[in-house]
Amino acid sequence: MERAWVTFGLACLLAAAPRGLHAQVPASVEEARPAANRLIAQIKEESARHGHALLGELCTTVGPRLSGSPGLEKAVAWAQVQMKAAGLENVHVEPVTIPHWVRGNESCEVVSSPGRKLAMLGLGNSVGTPKEGITADLVVVSSFEELSSLPRATVAGKIVLFDPPWNGYGRNVVFRLRGFLEAAAKGAVACLVRSASDAEGLPHTGSVWGNPFTPTSIPTAALAIEDAAYLHQLAARPAPVRVRLQMDGQVLAPASGANVIGELRGREIPDEIIILSAHLDSWDVGQGAQDDGVGCILSLEAARAMLKAGLRPRRTIRVVFWATEEYGGLGARAYAKTQGIEMQKVIAAFEADTGNGRPLGFGWKGGDRAAHIVKRLRGYQPLLEPLGAASLEPDAYPGTDIEALEYPGVALFGLHNDMRHYFEIHHCAADTFDRVNLQDFTLNLEAYALMGYLVADLPQ
Ligand SMILES: [Zn+2]
Repeated sequence: MERAWVTFGLACLLAAAPRGLHAQVPASVEEARPAANRLIAQIKEESARHGHALLGELCTTVGPRLSGSPGLEKAVAWAQVQMKAAGLENVHVEPVTIPHWVRGNESCEVVSSPGRKLAMLGLGNSVGTPKEGITADLVVVSSFEELSSLPRATVAGKIVLFDPPWNGYGRNVVFRLRGFLEAAAKGAVACLVRSASDAEGLPHTGSVWGNPFTPTSIPTAALAIEDAAYLHQLAARPAPVRVRLQMDGQVLAPASGANVIGELRGREIPDEIIILSAHLDSWDVGQGAQDDGVGCILSLEAARAMLKAGLRPRRTIRVVFWATEEYGGLGARAYAKTQGIEMQKVIAAFEADTGNGRPLGFGWKGGDRAAHIVKRLRGYQPLLEPLGAASLEPDAYPGTDIEALEYPGVALFGLHNDMRHYFEIHHCAADTFDRVNLQDFTLNLEAYALMGYLVADLPQ
């Protein structure tokens, strides 16, 4: 009964005339310029260094933050302390049930002659092998089509390696996601994939397709790109290549996680909300510095910089660190569900989750109101141009988390960065604080904070 009412009420509200941002005076760049100048000056003088140091603390004193791990639990407590220290109000956590996979020990080696140890990382939620490991002959393919062209008898009982050519993350990640499913369907006993990266020497982990709370049907792991290429070359010879894979990976009972939330209440229309967000979880290797420690600190430091500069926007800024993104935006999905009718207060949501390359602009998504906001933001482009972040790309990917907030009336904005070097550190041991360049971090903070402020302060 109550549920039906909420659904009906929400539908009515969302169908009503667009709220808040409609029928206002046009944005004036000159009106906004003094505040923008103050915000940028604050960031240059203090906030960028403060935020960069805070990221260093997250990376080194908290460390990696795998879903369900003690590291993530520690990060949730740390984040609340930092939000309060930044002067945010209404700091609290909202519980989210999150996956809990543990890696344990793992290894992979060629046991036929010539033997060789391989650089590998189990993929998230991979089932483990028996204690003694799985030893089997290897079948190497470059594509799903090549695998399906092979007779089942050629694949059954073997370990399949997918070694596709590198065509960029978007094209290659499908082997990490779906490889084990295709291999298992042909009777393979384990699956290896070339890392979805163009980095040298380091294997990249990541999640796989399917229910985030259940293990894979067969053990699955990524190999460093050189090792995948080596096996491909070896397998082209007539002699069978025999590989031993040992993994302790295990899916445990779901864990208790939390979205961490803090606010900078709006001075005129506090019931309209602009979310600045990123995900707090990371993979267990590296320090989760750019994926997505940078995004968390940008979101927090943007709000802190506004406060330090004496700027309180018209609408409320709500900083959210999402509980778990690496298994598919579960934190934001839980948020959208539990907020229910409150979601209609959200005007816009921002996410920063593409590393620390210099900012290029924002991708946006959403209906009529998003288009209306963007139209007004174009009036502010002279303020964003000097930051190199004036592009507003329509129908662009805004971020895995906030895609769960794609409600009518919510404008989604993703910070877009130069990602040329991102996949050298993504999901691998190289995602560490020492690679987070302060100069680029400063530019990102300027673009993200200013854009968040301008949207939150659009005149009625
Ligand atoms: Zn991320």
